[in-house]
Amino acid sequence: MKKRHPATNAVRIQTSKTEQMEHSTPMFLTSSFTYHSAEEMAAAFSDDNLDINIYSRFSNPTVDEFIEKVATLECAEAGVATGTGMAAVFATFMSFLQAGDHILSASAVFGSTHTLLIKYLPKWGIETSYFDMRKPETVEACIRPNTKMLYVETPSNPGLDIIDIAYLAEICKAKNILLVVDNCFATPALQQPILLGADLVVHSATKFMDGQGRVLGGVVVGKKELIHEMYLFIRNSGPSLSPFNAWVLSKSLETLHIRMEKHSEQALTLAKRLDGYKGVSWVKYPFLPSHPHFSIAQKQMSLGGGILTFELSGGISSGRNFLNALQMISMTNNLGDSRTIASHPASTTHSKLSEEERASVGISAGLIRLSVGLEHVEDIWEDIAQALDTCS
Ligand SMILES: *Cc1c(COP(=O)(O)O)cnc(C)c1O
Repeated sequence: MKKRHPATNAVRIQTSKTEQMEHSTPMFLTSSFTYHSAEEMAAAFSDDNLDINIYSRFSNPTVDEFIEKVATLECAEAGVATGTGMAAVFATFMSFLQAGDHILSASAVFGSTHTLLIKYLPKWGIETSYFDMRKPETVEACIRPNTKMLYVETPSNPGLDIIDIAYLAEICKAKNILLVVDNCFATPALQQPILLGADLVVHSATKFMDGQGRVLGGVVVGKKELIHEMYLFIRNSGPSLSPFNAWVLSKSLETLHIRMEKHSEQALTLAKRLDGYKGVSWVKYPFLPSHPHFSIAQKQMSLGGGILTFELSGGISSGRNFLNALQMISMTNNLGDSRTIASHPASTTHSKLSEEERASVGISAGLIRLSVGLEHVEDIWEDIAQALDTCS
């Protein structure tokens, strides 16, 4: 049969049906599974048999369906799911790094990932250093003899920096280093890092995968052998995804492609209108030609995604005034929701950093991060424009 388009697989993959032959996926809310005989139970516990369900910390049919959809969408061989995106990131570190190893990370990574790297990994003798995402040519020189993993987020949160995944993959292959990409902002609908040479792709499923701000979840995909290592870590340490959340997420993936197209189309429209608007000093969006890595974005992403940032010329107070003037857009720190969300990192998520530290990760005083939702684009624009007119 001709290979189906990923969007079709996201709708059609259904791994388990009961005798009722339900058309939509049933939810297997169960902690454990039973057997017809002692022999069957013994077989389930044999190490070579990972296909029989035992206990939902190890595997669960609803969770497996979600994993299979993500692995198919990412063009990966296999995957594991976790209770949150951070559990996915942590399990990735724990499964492949040990005392004496070094991890090289892009400077612009999610806040909690940064905390794991600088506060927790050193407790186990794992060293971290950073390279400047805006200077990819420096990556090679930052690699040490004990570097085991290269970790990047592209586009990065919230700086929207972009790095050439294929270029990094070439360096990593030559040096036998695992390349891990956090693909949360683009999702597999817009970017498939495995096809560009990444070894593992990590996601917070909480964001665009769920797409409606309802449940937390995480997922990692890659080659079978690597995923098997992670499976054993998760099976024994327990950050497993709940079947209920997996059911919600699996259902959401059916609309991932059409949602990401709409998020991207609306974000590009708004980015163009914000560019040059009174009180806005600059706009950053991967598919705006003014983005410093526009050509790489065009090469490795099919659309620009749902997140854009812009700088208010009035600094920190104008950021707060803008949020206070919004009438419809939500003020919250989540992203990837059907509802448009605005946040002001300098006075919230990154308020504990000094101005210089914020600048080094691309966060200026008047920076607004907008997660463009699925409301009608004219209603979103009207709210933004009236808030800008009020606060400038
Ligand atoms: C939110 C986020 C995470 C963490 O995911 P949780 O589901 O909140 O644990 C990791 N990486 C990126 C890029 C994120 O935006």
